[in-house]
Amino acid sequence: MLKYSQFLRNIYGEKVYKIPVNTGGTCPNRDGTKGTGGCIFCSEIGTGFELPPAELDFFTQVNQNICHIRKKYKANRYLIYFQNFTGTYLPLDIFRRYLEQVRQVEDVVGVSVSTRPDCLDGGHLDELAKLQQEGYDVFVELGLQSANDETLFRINRGHTVADYVEGAKKVKERGFYLDTHLILNLPWDTEEDVVCAAKLMNEVQTDSVKLHSLHIPYGTKLYELYRDNQIAVISKEEYFHRLYLFLKELNPCVAVQRLFSRAPKEDTAFCNWQTSWWKLEDEFFRYADQMGGLE
Ligand code: SF4
Repeated sequence: MLKYSQFLRNIYGEKVYKIPVNTGGTCPNRDGTKGTGGCIFCSEIGTGFELPPAELDFFTQVNQNICHIRKKYKANRYLIYFQNFTGTYLPLDIFRRYLEQVRQVEDVVGVSVSTRPDCLDGGHLDELAKLQQEGYDVFVELGLQSANDETLFRINRGHTVADYVEGAKKVKERGFYLDTHLILNLPWDTEEDVVCAAKLMNEVQTDSVKLHSLHIPYGTKLYELYRDNQIAVISKEEYFHRLYLFLKELNPCVAVQRLFSRAPKEDTAFCNWQTSWWKLEDEFFRYADQMGGLE
């Protein structure tokens, strides 16, 4: 399995860290443009639990983070990561201003923008292409979550698998790196869906995947379903098996950013079977070895 840190090291020849930036922002699946209420697992603060407060200006957020990362991980090059909500849904002039600020930060090799696959036509990709022409790399992270349309409907995603395929094509055509986010244990998905998702990743030639184990934030529709026993979360052992099947099917050239979610205990009714993600990773790799190993 190609770890994302190694994937970046292969490109840049040294450690590169993502520096998350909170732009505030919102999402077309919340404000009525694509839908209302948002995805059923998405909390009020969006999906970025590890983000600095949006009230801090760009340079304060970035400098604080770089200072921390440089000391802790001895990394000297960075990707600015627009993580929260829908990065390409920011008003274009504000997005442009952010990219202008990116250009002023030293040791930045590129940007990573998290977004929806059906939100790529507002001129943001053109702005990213300009940045790319100046020598920066561009990574676009598309949320797919499930490769099953029925599940996408149930989680109120507001787009289909076909929309994702089209979005992935737009990203790849520009010569940007494509990353895809998936949740491997949504309650309506099966092992077959997970294998289909891996096949789809191979077909669209995503450069990396970010895998999430289902976590249940308080205050979400998903939480209500969980509280009312209308959904159940599969066991840790079943998740390991799904993860193994997925990774066995996935082209080994595709980098893997994450295998388990990272969410604070106090914000979630359920996360990672009450175990830390790093212990789960160790346990999973032992399981994978017993099953015959991963490439
Ligand atoms: S598309 Fe992203 S930001 Fe919007 S509701 Fe879904 S998870 Fe939240």
